[in-house]
Formats: sequence, structure tokens, C-alpha cells
Amino acid sequence: MSARAWLPYSRQTVEQDDIDALVEVLRGDYLTTGPAVERFEQALAAAVGAREAVAVSSGTAALHAACFAAGVGPGDEVIVPAISFLATANCARYLGAEPIFADVDPASGLLRPEEIARLASDKTRAVIPVHLNGAPADMPAIRSAAERSGAAVIEDAAHALGAVLDGRPVGAGPPMAAFSFHPVKPITTAEGGAVTTNDPERAERMRRFRNHGIVRAAGDLRHAAPGPWYYEQQFLGHNLRMNDLQAALGVSQLGKLERFTAARRRLAARYDELLADVGGLTPVVPPAVRATCAYHLYAVRVDFAERGVTRAGLMERLARAGIGSQVHFIPIPQQPYYRERGWRVEDFPGALRYYERVLSLPLFPAMDDADVERVAAALGEALGRPGSRP
Ligand SMILES: *Cc1c(COP(=O)(O)O)cnc(C)c1O
Repeated sequence: MSARAWLPYSRQTVEQDDIDALVEVLRGDYLTTGPAVERFEQALAAAVGAREAVAVSSGTAALHAACFAAGVGPGDEVIVPAISFLATANCARYLGAEPIFADVDPASGLLRPEEIARLASDKTRAVIPVHLNGAPADMPAIRSAAERSGAAVIEDAAHALGAVLDGRPVGAGPPMAAFSFHPVKPITTAEGGAVTTNDPERAERMRRFRNHGIVRAAGDLRHAAPGPWYYEQQFLGHNLRMNDLQAALGVSQLGKLERFTAARRRLAARYDELLADVGGLTPVVPPAVRATCAYHLYAVRVDFAERGVTRAGLMERLARAGIGSQVHFIPIPQQPYYRERGWRVEDFPGALRYYERVLSLPLFPAMDDADVERVAAALGEALGRPGSRP
């Protein structure tokens, strides 16, 4: 990218063949759910090594549908980390359940598995760990803690398409992983999401849930079909469908996933190298995790107090140098909506400490080494070198 261009913290990478794929759909017979959705679902399931993928209209819809398939309902509890995007908690509320916030590791922002046993009750229906920044959460510990409390595990893999867990792609299960294809996520369909699973029954429930709870196949009907127009709504679903434009873009983008992930890892490695010379700053994802991380974001922890700068001041200074940055995320229990429901962010010291220091730096596949060098130089000027302030 050119030296003067605004460098956002993230952006989509859309290429000519992505555009061609969209134009082809526009010229065809289906705009909404058609053959491209099925192609995308098959390609995504194959990419992560799961039996099934169910494409929906957003990552939020994917979490909503996965919670539904896990049997989450009124009065239930769903354990979620205090650091994530709002959707991780809201999906429980959509179904009349209550998110139960768990504290996170102050260094990684990841759910602390030992919190699950502490917070679990006979109302706990699901646990939703988040692979924050694309770094896999401690799934073996989370799975066994969830199993002991009889809760389903839904991985919030919105950051983690392309990440590796125990030698397999994130999303291979069990039992369910929810992905987002928002423009800043690892691949994009503009808006879009999907759930991968190895459980065909849950996949079928989610396919009905995304389409009003409708069934059409003769074997699924409760009443004899009077004719070919007939369908039945058997429960309350929603319109959470992905359309063929989104799905065609998804198929095209999925073909680039390996290249995108390799680029993200290479740029992250370069950041790690250059930022070692910047004072008061530590990459959130340690180098040991680099080979398995999807690097949706490149986040750093900055000891702002020790450096004598504020985060807002640093962001402003970076912006003046044409560099975007962002904070992921504000602890969810701090939101007015959840405060009103009785949550106190002060009860989550790990989340507060993570939030206090974290900053996301520009990272997306179309960046080059010169972009990383420019960001590192600007940070060096603002924060100084290890052992000496600017
Ligand atoms: C982006 C995101 C979501 C929601 O995805 P949308 O596609 O924006 O609805 C859910 N969880 C996390 C952690 C996210 O970052």
C-alpha cells in the first residue's frame, strides 16, 4: 500500500474473481437462497473438516441458531467470557436465557476454563468460548469442564477461520462452531455467518430455524400434504437466511483462505520482531501460538501508565500518521444493558485489566512489510524504547 494512504485496523480483501463471482449470480436465476448457498456450505464444511455447515445471515445469527440447536431456552444460563463482541452474550438473551459472564485471562483475554465449574448450575445449557484474536481457546479443558456440568459447547469462532486446534482446523468440532464473515473477519461475505457441526440433526434444526421453522419434505410433515404448495411451520424460527450473492462471494473468498491466513501470520511475525524494540508493549498472542492463530486481529497490550501516555492520545497520534487502531473489546458486563440486568464489571478484574491495555493494530492480508514498518516506527516514536520513555 502507498505510504500516505490511510491504513485501517482491518479491511476486506476483495479481488477481481470475487467481483466476477457476484456478477455471475446477478445474471442467474437465484438471488436469495439458491445453489450457491449449498456450494458454500459444502466448501466451508470441507475447509474445516466438519460434516455439515449451515450458512446464515451473520455471525450473530450463527450464534443464535447454534444456541437454539443446543436447546437453549427461557430460564437457561449460558456461560460466556466477559471479553467478546456483544453478540456472544446477546444470543442467549434472544432465546430468553441469561448469559453468565466468566472472567478472562488478563494477558490473552481468553475464557478461564476453571471459571466454568465455578459458575455452572443446573440451569447451564451451553458454554460459548471465544477464540479471541484468532488464538484458539483452551478447548480440551473447556470441553471437559462443560461436559461435567452437562452443557453444550458452542465455539465463537468469529475470529478463528483458519486457526488450528489440536492439529485440526477450528470448526471441526465437536459439537458446534459459529463463524462470522463480516468484512473485517478472516474471509467476508459482506454480512454473513455459518455454524459447522458433525451432528446432522442439529444442522437440520438450524436450517429450519433460519427459515421460520418451516418444513416441506413429506417425511417431516405432521399432516398429509394436500398438494405441492404445502409447508408447515412447526416452531418459531426467524429469517436468518444467507443469500446467493453472499454465498458466491463466500465460495470465492474461501478459496483464498490459506493465502490470507499465511499473509496474516507472516505480517504478525514481522510485527513481533519490530515491536520487540518498543517500550511498554507486548503482543497479545505469544510467538508460540503463531502457527495455530488465525490473526483476525493483531492486538498488543500497552502499559500506558508506565509510558506516561493515554490510549486515546496514542490512537490520536497514530491517526495523525494515517494509522487506524481499535479496541477489542469493552467488557460486556460494562454495557448499560447488562448493568441494568445486575452485572458489575468490577467483578471481572481479568477482563478489566485486559481491556485497560489492549489495542488492535492494522492487520489484513493486502498489507505489506512497509506498512508494518510504518506502524512499528510510529509506535516507537510514541512509546519510546524498552527501558527509556519517548
Ligand atoms: C464479529 C463477531 C461476532 C458477530 O458477527 P457478525 O457477523 O458481526 O454478526 C460474534 N462474536 C465475535 C467474537 C465477533 O467478533
